[in-house]
Amino acid sequence: LKISSSTYNDDTVNEEYGGLNNSTRKENAVLLMLVRNWELPDALKSMRALEDRFNREYHYDWVFLNDVPFDERFIEATTMMASGRTKYGLIPTEDWNKPDWIDEELFESRLKEMERQKVIYGGSRSYRNMCRFNSGFFFRQKILEEYDYYFRVEPDVEYFCDFPYDPFEIMRSQKKKYGFVMTLVEYKATIPTLWNTVLDYIKQDRHRDIDKENSLYEFITDWDDVKTPKSLVQPTDNYNMCHFWSNFEIGDLNFFRSDEYLRFFDYLDRTGGFYYERWGDAPVHSIAAALLLKQDEVIHFDEISYMHAPYFTLPQADYFQLKQRCICPYKEKNRIDFRDISCLNRWWKDGTGKKFMKETYSMG
Ligand code: GDP
Ligand code: MN
Repeated sequence: LKISSSTYNDDTVNEEYGGLNNSTRKENAVLLMLVRNWELPDALKSMRALEDRFNREYHYDWVFLNDVPFDERFIEATTMMASGRTKYGLIPTEDWNKPDWIDEELFESRLKEMERQKVIYGGSRSYRNMCRFNSGFFFRQKILEEYDYYFRVEPDVEYFCDFPYDPFEIMRSQKKKYGFVMTLVEYKATIPTLWNTVLDYIKQDRHRDIDKENSLYEFITDWDDVKTPKSLVQPTDNYNMCHFWSNFEIGDLNFFRSDEYLRFFDYLDRTGGFYYERWGDAPVHSIAAALLLKQDEVIHFDEISYMHAPYFTLPQADYFQLKQRCICPYKEKNRIDFRDISCLNRWWKDGTGKKFMKETYSMG
């Protein structure tokens, strides 16, 4: 029995997943937070929400990562907030700091320039370390070795509806490798040369064409003329800035550990773009997923609620909002899915959506 997240009902959940109270079928998965000591209150806020809305029924482990050691108070408070085991990892400096082949003068001038242009986090050094770490190193941390799936959690986020299922179980049983809740367009100024670098990578390093039919290539590239029916136009190879918002992310660690992903990351990294520009881990993960995965290996968890300022999302159907006991105090204008910067329309049209909907309909 294949269960799509859009069509779940109590019967299928009980039959296939053992129900919410059954913790005997736990997946090999971990809740993962990169965080600083001073963010403790915000970390606890996120933990409380995720525990109350999901993990208290499952007791998945929590892993915390930091570029400096966690202090005792942080460890004590997060351990008492968690329903599962807690573990704390210190990131090796070579996985965090800027590599020595980055030209310090050039880097300095780019920092100043991006700060002058008021690019968000444009002048920050540590933010760049963080983005590069999240792009290329989080999955290599020893403390994560034993796990197959991770759920990225950030401090100061909110999950404000009950989870209707265990997303890790969906990932495994439906062979998903990447899961998201929000998709939107990236700031161009942070990634001026990222896409050209990706095209170079495809040409020089991949040794074969991207499978444009079965991947999400079309989801992240423009069409010649959006007004002409798709069947009549040729696709272009321009990046349309659509990406999955990676502050919420449920993924298969083995995808990131794969030779293919590592080659992709190394190619990008060698250009210095994580420092000379301000490449985010969100577009990097998203482009990798779009190029290297099949469409149906990426899942939109449309029944999970989530708030990371300034945007939120929640299950669309009013009945689901009631049944999942949602409490949504946010302004409707901050609901990402209906804004023009959202890529969800495109997802339904060009992404897994079209396939996904066919399956959904054929089940009825
Ligand atoms: P934003 O979501 O893009 O505004 O960036 P955040 O400030 O939320 O940072 C993203 C994630 O990286 C959060 O989980 C932060 O706690 C974490 N983070 C950012 N910078 C650092 C850092 O210098 N050290 C550590 N340990 N974590 C960081
Ligand atoms: Mn954040």
